[in-house]
Amino acid sequence: MNPRAIIFDVDGTLADTEEGHRQAYNRAFEEAGLPWHWDQALYARLLAVTGGKERMRHFVADFWNSVAPTDLDDLIARLYRRKTEIYTAMVRAGGMPLRPGIAELIARAHAAGIRLAVATTTAQENVVALLTANLGHNGARLFGVLGCGDQVPHKKPAPDIYVWVLRQLGLGAAECLALEDSELGLAAARAAGLRTFVTVNAYTRGQDFRGAEAVFEDLSDLNTFARAAGLELPASA
Ligand SMILES: [Mg+2]
Repeated sequence: MNPRAIIFDVDGTLADTEEGHRQAYNRAFEEAGLPWHWDQALYARLLAVTGGKERMRHFVADFWNSVAPTDLDDLIARLYRRKTEIYTAMVRAGGMPLRPGIAELIARAHAAGIRLAVATTTAQENVVALLTANLGHNGARLFGVLGCGDQVPHKKPAPDIYVWVLRQLGLGAAECLALEDSELGLAAARAAGLRTFVTVNAYTRGQDFRGAEAVFEDLSDLNTFARAAGLELPASA
């Protein structure tokens, strides 16, 4: 029997967005006249903190060996707004394609009557921009529930965003599946009681995915994934 809903993580799961986020942060820092720069190695470490504002605060506290600006809350809020503008412009320009198999899974699951939802720590504008750029202007509407960013106080690996999404869906965890790309995301979904599948990417390969139902490189072989997940999907949407 099909699950009633599939709940997707966004960054690294729907699309390889982390590199875009990193570049957008660096542009926002540069525009603000800050000497901050996040290279790939540093960003891989900063991903241990979910949520953009939380990540910048962690960077200042743990990696910035200089005096923190006095108006830090305000500065971080401004940087996050500007970074989101830069990032969504990149997405709208077509710079963030969906990962292999994702568009097909969304279309075929929707055709099978499975509900679709998002559970992410990123801002809702980022999610809507990504879905619209890749799936057309009704793309975001295919998703009945968008659980994003600041909707809950505790970000992943806390289960809160998944719990919030399940409540909005009116479904129990046993009726749904989650798809994630990272150890922290897997921990959040599992703590909410969800059966969770993982697709890895350059930033998450090698993390600890114990507790996942199965781990895939990507969903390019969608039928193999569907069999593992017990999904009965129409041959095409
Ligand atoms: Mg992710």
